[in-house]
Amino acid sequence: MGAGFGGIAVAAELLRHGLDDVTLLEAAPGPGGTWHHNRYPGAACDVPSHLYSYSFAQRASWAHVFSHQGEILQYARETADALGITPRIVTDTTVTSCTWDDGTRTWTVRSRRTGSDGPQEERVADAVVLATGQLDKPALPAVEGLADFAGRSFHSARWDHAYDLRGKRVAVIGTGASATQLVPEIAPLVGHLTVFQRTGNWFLPRKDRPMPAALDRILRRPWARRAWRRLLHHVIELITLCVRHPRTAGRVGALFSAAHMRRQLPDAELRRKAWPDYPFGCKRVLLSSDFLPALRRPNTELVTDRIVRMTPEGPLTEDGRVHEVDCVIHATGFRTHTFMLPMEVRGAGGRSIEEAWARGAQAHLGIMVSGFPSLFLMYGPNTNTSGGSILFFLEAQAGYVRRALHLTRRAGAAALDVRPQVQEAGLNAVRARFEGTAWTQCSSWYRTPDGRNVANWPGYMGEYAARTRRPTPSEFRFIGVRVR
Ligand code: NAP
Repeated sequence: MGAGFGGIAVAAELLRHGLDDVTLLEAAPGPGGTWHHNRYPGAACDVPSHLYSYSFAQRASWAHVFSHQGEILQYARETADALGITPRIVTDTTVTSCTWDDGTRTWTVRSRRTGSDGPQEERVADAVVLATGQLDKPALPAVEGLADFAGRSFHSARWDHAYDLRGKRVAVIGTGASATQLVPEIAPLVGHLTVFQRTGNWFLPRKDRPMPAALDRILRRPWARRAWRRLLHHVIELITLCVRHPRTAGRVGALFSAAHMRRQLPDAELRRKAWPDYPFGCKRVLLSSDFLPALRRPNTELVTDRIVRMTPEGPLTEDGRVHEVDCVIHATGFRTHTFMLPMEVRGAGGRSIEEAWARGAQAHLGIMVSGFPSLFLMYGPNTNTSGGSILFFLEAQAGYVRRALHLTRRAGAAALDVRPQVQEAGLNAVRARFEGTAWTQCSSWYRTPDGRNVANWPGYMGEYAARTRRPTPSEFRFIGVRVR
């Protein structure tokens, strides 16, 4: 399920290893996942392109050091085409349920045309991979009276390109990674821009520039690309180092970030308002060299008073001010702890994933949930990264899925299920590894209201690759006898 970067990664891995009866069901009209949906002005990736790309489908050349949304989406499509995945993608198809049958030891996948309540289609599968992402369901701010607003409003991930922002009074709610990219783009167009910030952020420099010609020439050579990727991999792991060691490396990261922010915010009052009040790396560190300068524009105001209600004219803040605007842009992130839900997923004995996740989303290595045989998650619980490339994690997961399926074949079984004690032990290790890290020191989309981090991998990318490289037969219960 899903033909974003996760679905494409797993399909590529399976096809490459001769498991070729693969179908991808995609809710959107085309592949690309988050890069299909997020088309706000300035949408780009803050991970360098040579790392934010598959190791098995390296591009000879990228137009920018940090690619823009259009080029990344094009890359996803190109890769799916080149590897024979595109004809296997069934678009406009929303999966409503996946049900395990204890008798036939297969999954029944029900779906219907996206947006319709018409008849359901049914498919039977030996294994299912849920590659539906962590950041796919836009979240609106929990502000009373949102529907009362009389102007135009939309979410950053569902940008209304038909609405002309030029000369308008615009409010942007939120100052996360999406807002950071879109605010500098729209600020010069709009009449007046009000940016509502609840919490300040730490910033590191990121210049949006075309790939330097000399570097591009060098990186056209495969060996140079491999070396460059390796270098980027290790540089980017420094962010995780800072998060893991807030008293040492984290302090250095904070000093570096503070110097960048001070340079960009010479005005003491604006600096005070924008400054974060939590340790470096607790929330995602934002890579931008143009967001803070955009706040200094004469037509831009940063508001840090809390929004208490939406009125027909615009947001009402706690100081009693109504900010009259024509358009409200919700750059307020995503509902992140629900993963594939509201899809109905029922495993052995008819147990639902909600029951299995009554104490919060959890999965062995973020990939397998005990009691759900031969069901795999891509970008599942505790596999997000604060600094690294998510594509690296997706490739590791794709490899794991393929090896798990091969183990099942080799065992002559119909399916495999991770043992509950293996899942529990892995989860305890993951939880223990968060202790003492910056992630525990503020609230963020990574954490549940009771403070558990269900989104992030607590370590380095390399550790995750090592943990997922070799699924061992003793970790699983093999079920039934293979008939096909
Ligand atoms: P986000 O990081 O969750 O940011 C949401 C923002 O909305 C936060 O600043 C949040 O404030 C604010 N907010 C929520 N409710 C509010 C309210 N009632 N009033 C005022 N502010 C409110 O969402 P996002 O920016 O869409 O990014 C989500 C994730 O997507 C990122 O962390 C990243 O993993 C990914 N992303 C990646 C890139 C990239 O270049 N690789 C680009 C964009 C997004 P608080 O901080 O106080 O909660």
